[in-house]
Amino acid sequence: MADNMQLTIGHLYPDLLNLYGDRGNTITLQKRCAWRGITARVVSLGAGEDADFDDIDLFFMGGGQDFDQYTLMEDLGIGRAGSKASRLTAAIEADVPVLAICGGYQILGEYYVGHDGQRADFIGAIPVYTEAGEDRMIGNMVYEATALEGSPTVVGFENHAGRTRLREGAVPLGRVVKGFGNNGEDGTEGIRYRNVLATYSHGPLLPKNPAVADELIRLALQRRYPGAELPALDDALEWRAHDAMLKRLV
Ligand code: GLN
Repeated sequence: MADNMQLTIGHLYPDLLNLYGDRGNTITLQKRCAWRGITARVVSLGAGEDADFDDIDLFFMGGGQDFDQYTLMEDLGIGRAGSKASRLTAAIEADVPVLAICGGYQILGEYYVGHDGQRADFIGAIPVYTEAGEDRMIGNMVYEATALEGSPTVVGFENHAGRTRLREGAVPLGRVVKGFGNNGEDGTEGIRYRNVLATYSHGPLLPKNPAVADELIRLALQRRYPGAELPALDDALEWRAHDAMLKRLV
C-alpha cells in the first residue's frame, strides 16, 4: 500500500462552483486515496482564500451559473502577475493534474460569451472558447474517454448553455456516445490538455467513473512520488452503478 504518502487537493471556489454535487468529486478522491493508505487533504481556495500552489498536487473546479463565473473574476486576477489565474496556468504547464467540470472547464478556457452577448475573458490556460446558445444542453450523457488509457466509458449528467469549441490540434477528453458533449455538433466531449481533464459531466463525475478518479490520483501521486504505484481497488460496486446507468442510457 502507498502508506504515509500525502496528497493535497486544491478545491477552487467550493462555495461558488458546486452544481449537482460536484463537491462529491473531492470526497471520492479523498476516499480512494484513504482506501490505499494515502492521506489526501483538501485545501479550500474560495474567494479570498489562497495557498502556495507548489504545495498543491491536484486542483478541482466545479460547475456554476454564468453569474457565479463572473463574480469570481476579481479573485482570479486574470492577466495579473502572481494571481491565482497566473499561478494556476503555471501549474497546468508544469503538468499538475486538474479536474474541471462545466463552468470550471469554461473558466480555464480563453473566453465565454453569455446568452446576453456579454463576453468575459477567462484564464486562457487551455485551448478552448465557449459561446452560450439560446437553449440549454441538459440530460444524462455517456462518452468514451478516448484521451485516457483503455478509453473507458464515462456516465454523467450535463446542463449547460455554453457551446465549447477546441482550438486546432487540441485533444478532446472523449467522444460522445449519448448526449450533447462540448457543443452538440462535433461529437467531442471535454478536453485533455497536459494533465487537465475537463468535462461537462456533473453527477458528481467520479463516484461512478473510478477509471477517471484513479487516473487523476495516479498522475498526482507519481508527480509527487516518482515511480509510486497505485494499488488497484475492488470497484465492483462502482462499476455496478456505472453499468446500471450505461444500460439505461445506451
Ligand atoms: N454557466 C455555464 C453554462 O451555462 C456552466 C453551467 C454549469 O456549470 N453547469 O454553460
